[in-house]
Amino acid sequence: MSQIKKILILGGGFGGINVLKLIQNKFKNDHNIRIFIVSQDNYFLYTPMLPQVTSGLIHSNDITIPIRKLCKQAEFYHATISSIDLEQKLVTITRTFDGKVHALDYDYLVITLGSNTNFFDNENIEKHAFVIKTVEDAISVNSQVINMLENAAQTSDIDFKKKLMTFTVVGGGFAGVETMGEINQLVRDSVKNFYPSIGEENISMNLVVSKEFILSELGPKLGKKAGEYLSKVGVNIITNTKAVDAGEDFVQLDDGKIIPCMTLIWAAGIDIDPVISELLCDHHKSGKLKVDSFLRLFEHEEVFALGDCALITNPLTGQAYPATAQNAIHQSVTVSNNLHSIITGKTKLEKFSFKSNGIMTTLGRKVSIAVVFGLTFNGPLAWLIWRTYYLSRLPMLEKKFQVATSWMADLLFKRDLTFIGLIKNKSLTKVDMKFDTSSVKDFFKDN
Ligand SMILES: Cc1cc2nc3c(=O)[nH]c(=O)nc-3n(C[C@H](O)[C@H](O)[C@H](O)COP(=O)(O)OP(=O)(O)OC[C@H]3O[C@@H](n4cnc5c(N)ncnc54)[C@H](O)[C@@H]3O)c2cc1C
Repeated sequence: MSQIKKILILGGGFGGINVLKLIQNKFKNDHNIRIFIVSQDNYFLYTPMLPQVTSGLIHSNDITIPIRKLCKQAEFYHATISSIDLEQKLVTITRTFDGKVHALDYDYLVITLGSNTNFFDNENIEKHAFVIKTVEDAISVNSQVINMLENAAQTSDIDFKKKLMTFTVVGGGFAGVETMGEINQLVRDSVKNFYPSIGEENISMNLVVSKEFILSELGPKLGKKAGEYLSKVGVNIITNTKAVDAGEDFVQLDDGKIIPCMTLIWAAGIDIDPVISELLCDHHKSGKLKVDSFLRLFEHEEVFALGDCALITNPLTGQAYPATAQNAIHQSVTVSNNLHSIITGKTKLEKFSFKSNGIMTTLGRKVSIAVVFGLTFNGPLAWLIWRTYYLSRLPMLEKKFQVATSWMADLLFKRDLTFIGLIKNKSLTKVDMKFDTSSVKDFFKDN
């Protein structure tokens, strides 16, 4: 029997790249271990700073890291995972550039595929809303905002101008609130500095949330404080309300009210990909994978799951850990320690348990809210804490440098308002390129 063990990591987000980094270190120069990582994006995305891309505060590639740069002794497949066969220990992947399918076998599997945006089966909202999940989404939102500014500057029809200048964000979690904070600042600053014909009185910013206050993760006191700040800088917070329909130029709320607007940004919930929710194993009703305290699937001890796609219960509170980057990072430590123990024949495994020392969010220029070691900060000090903490957690020195430079430039200069239109991509589907099958069970063959 082969001595070589194959570890296959699915997903190149917070869970995936942290497991990758840790196991590469643990199995450094061990030729009996082969590590593979598959992701549909060829980069890791540092999501806590993604809202800042929507406002042009930082550049999209300030917060993306090509996964190949992190592969010291791993092989990377830029492909979509189409199915996982836990019995045969095979993962089917679809090659990104031409759609051909292949199967990868494994001895140990790490599933960390994150989550999708949840539109709650509303096709109109899905069709008309922007989302904030990937770097392409953030670039699209930035382009949309600039495009709306250019259009509004050229119309004298006040109703149309107002519609162009109305931005509605749905979702009161970090992604929705931070995005609202960023685009509010971009639009108001830009109108003041570069688009005098628009008129500040025609700007309308709406944040629609289903709860009584925003940022429920911070608790009622801080959530309300964050809401008060956003209201002060011109955001209309609509609480206890859901958006139920949308069209090209409107959003409808569940109380029947219609907001005429050309820009809807949807950040109202997460959904689990069918590749995960239809896997033949134990699930929570959300579709998330249920795991034991060592973060393994109950029926398959060689398979680990972590991050947003796994339901992991906090043994101290009995509640599920929230879907955050912080949790995914800590889970990756337990997963890599346990993988190492199993492969090296140790019987004692590590149970996952984690108590967060802090939580923070940023609401715009020089304003954040932070709770660190039980102490609450807000305003410029919290903003400084937010920036220092998140910059220190951004992987790779070159990216820290890029982000710090962008932040510095923002303190000195006005925002860039370049509108980038459609980007052309050339398809390679008609070109026959052979897949390297050295580590692949090529079931399907190129056809
Ligand atoms: C705008 C925004 C702001 C956020 N801010 C914060 C914050 O301030 N603090 C915080 O703690 N958390 C924050 N989060 C949440 C945080 O990003 C997630 O909890 C975290 O990314 C989860 O890590 P993960 O590894 O489970 O999933 P992800 O990081 O989402 O990674 C999933 C990976 O799987 C890949 N993938 C998915 N499906 C497939 C497929 N079928 N085939 C191939 N590859 C696939 C993706 O390309 C990606 O590489 C934010 C999220 C967003 C969207």
